[in-house]
Amino acid sequence: MSMNTQGRQTAPEVVTVSEHKTISGNKGLAQAEKLIFEIGTPRRTGVDLPALKGVKSRLGGRLGGMERTEEIGLPGLSEPETMRHYVRLSQKNYAIDLGVYPLGSCTMKHNPRLNEKMARLPGFADVHPLQPRGTVQGALAVMGELSDWLLKLTGMPAVALSPKAGAHGELCGMMAIRAALDAKGADHKRRVLVPESAHGTNPATAVQCGFTIDAIPATDCGRVDMDALKTKLGDDKENSDVAGIMLTNPNTCGLFESDIIEIAELIHGAGGYFYCDGANFTALVGRVRPGDLGIDAMHLNLHKTFSTPHGGGGPGSGPTVLSEALAPFAPVPYVEKHNGKWKLVEDVNGTDSFGRMTAFHGQMGMFVRALSYMLSHGADGLKQATEDAVLNANYVQARLSEDMSPAFGGICMHEALFNDDFLKGTGVETLDFAKAMIDEGYHPMTMYFPLVVHGAMLIEPTESESKAELDRFIDMMKGLAKRAKAGEVDFFKAAPIYAPMRRLDETKAARNPVLRWRKQPSP
Ligand SMILES: *Cc1c(COP(=O)(O)O)cnc(C)c1O
Repeated sequence: MSMNTQGRQTAPEVVTVSEHKTISGNKGLAQAEKLIFEIGTPRRTGVDLPALKGVKSRLGGRLGGMERTEEIGLPGLSEPETMRHYVRLSQKNYAIDLGVYPLGSCTMKHNPRLNEKMARLPGFADVHPLQPRGTVQGALAVMGELSDWLLKLTGMPAVALSPKAGAHGELCGMMAIRAALDAKGADHKRRVLVPESAHGTNPATAVQCGFTIDAIPATDCGRVDMDALKTKLGDDKENSDVAGIMLTNPNTCGLFESDIIEIAELIHGAGGYFYCDGANFTALVGRVRPGDLGIDAMHLNLHKTFSTPHGGGGPGSGPTVLSEALAPFAPVPYVEKHNGKWKLVEDVNGTDSFGRMTAFHGQMGMFVRALSYMLSHGADGLKQATEDAVLNANYVQARLSEDMSPAFGGICMHEALFNDDFLKGTGVETLDFAKAMIDEGYHPMTMYFPLVVHGAMLIEPTESESKAELDRFIDMMKGLAKRAKAGEVDFFKAAPIYAPMRRLDETKAARNPVLRWRKQPSP
């Protein structure tokens, strides 16, 4: 064993263990954990209350016959048992705070702790959405200032803050487009063009809004096929049934759509609107303003571009910016300043607003975090974050291209896309490669997306990673690629060996999910 001068082991010894099962089910200090219902019993409780005296709730009495007649069935645990249960569960999460999280398209960047501190200030954390306006001027000012930043960064005239995720922002933008078409009586315009590389939420959103989808193929360079687009638009622009396009830029192949201005002109020429999926805005902030590209609506994922946490599926936040043409149809509420006082506009009477998307204002905690991120970076810092994110992705792409196969030539934006050509003939597939990454202690990259690339591996390092961290990741990936090419197919098919769960039946889990615990009948 080699040691450094501090007596710490430097190079881990490579040990090969045949599969070894522990008696406890624990692995090292990682503990197996059952469901809370399986460890709890209704006879145990973490609190000690005196028995109720003199309260008789007869059937049909004060609860109007709604009294519980059976045990409530909650799991009973003592305080230390409860604590251990949740701490053990929390340790099963892989997180951006633990290591590189290279999921492409998802932009998993560091969430600065300053943002958390700001969001926890009682003046933000403890306000209630129904509080009188006079008592929440600060919170409304945060919404106003965040709106200003988003409008400046995008070069757009209006923003709806209330959508609660990227997909919800898409719904907001497409509902505004639908309302604008309806206002013109253009009910023949129901076809939405969507590139084949689009995120699944794009076509799903358009269909929700009553549109049909027409897919545009990609060229060999991974961008919109302009000839195909022109054919889809047809010659009779006057009577075109095209409602608009939903395009991602940079697209999900990590490439800038270089014909974007011409695309906007063509769509507008046919009387349609341009929805841009802004999930990849992290590659543009401070460098490109979507408003200059002819975009009519675009959502921003605060939980991607502006570092607010993704959480366990939420809460996200998907503010949507709108062009002059769509602004009148924006949803309520939004904030306005009159005579030095902030006010929340909620009334739709006498306006063209399509209505309301959420009960209240949106994700206040995310607004505070995103604004804190913007203010602490400043305009120059945001621009540098963008440039670093693009530089990091290109560094990964350049070094990995020696052993893996990039899907397209040339420089990428904020994410590097590979196909599975380098695995041809090895018997190893993208999925096996990803499982081997887990054994190496890395969360796999995005796999099999975008669909236009065979066996896709989409890697987004973001600006959070240092060169040293990137090099460790790259060396690991190159090592795996070499093992695959050296014919070690059994090694890959067995992976992951070190994970608490090995290969799961992912198809069955997706098709037949078991989402609810049911009490086993007692023996
Ligand atoms: C993440 C993402 C979305 C959806 O955003 P959510 O916040 O997950 O709803 C849409 N499009 C693209 C390209 C994305 O990466």
